[in-house]
Amino acid sequence: MRVTCFLCDRVDEIDDNSLLAKRIRNRPLTTYLCPACHDRIAQKTLARRQQKEARGVVQAENERDAGDSASHTNGRP
Ligand SMILES: [Zn+2]
Repeated sequence: MRVTCFLCDRVDEIDDNSLLAKRIRNRPLTTYLCPACHDRIAQKTLARRQQKEARGVVQAENERDAGDSASHTNGRP
């Protein structure tokens, strides 16, 4: 069946018997994301989550040993 990526309007052909096709047929509101957009979103989401986590960890470390923060910046610009 033909599906349209809701982000970039790319039209893809997917296997009628695939789980995704079944899901879209059963729930017409289910949106299709082409692999490129899916990857992009996944990477963005992951990067944002990692940034958040990294910041949280750094803050926690700074609180634990205040004054020794210079040792955590080794190898970073
Ligand atoms: Zn797309």
